[in-house]
Order: sequence, then C-alpha cells, then structure tokens
Amino acid sequence: MTEQTGGWYGLHSVFEQQRSEFEAYVSAPPVACPNDGEPLVNAPSAKSGSGIELFCKYCFWQYPRDWHPPIRMDSGGLESPL
Ligand SMILES: [Zn+2]
Repeated sequence: MTEQTGGWYGLHSVFEQQRSEFEAYVSAPPVACPNDGEPLVNAPSAKSGSGIELFCKYCFWQYPRDWHPPIRMDSGGLESPL
C-alpha cells in the first residue's frame, strides 16, 4: 500500500470543512432534537404566539426556549464556556 492518506493537509481540509459547517450550524435553527436526534417539527398553529417555533414530539424539547447555541472557540484551544 503506497496510497497517501492525506497527512496534515487532509486533516486541515477536514478542519476547514467542519468550521464552515459549524458556522452554518450556529446560525441556523436546529433541525433535530439535541436530546434524541429526532427531527424537530413546526409548532402547531394553536401554539402560535407562545414563542415556540419548533419542538420535539418525543421529549418536548422546544426551540428557541431550550436552544443554547454552541460557543465558538477562536483560539483553537479547549476553553471552557464558563
Ligand atoms: Zn427530543
């Protein structure tokens, strides 16, 4: 086997892709429940005005009430958000 596995450049490429995906991730509403991964559904019209936009019908997680956007770590270190 002489196939190149990418090395640092491969990892760098993956990192850049993940960064761009992260940017999109934090700027858009979630599409799946963070608790169980089930797709979120639009709040029924009866709930309009309640502040609920999306919810999980399995555990009743609600967006934006229960949504906490991840904190970006610009330094590249493992900083605690606290
Ligand atoms: Zn859920």
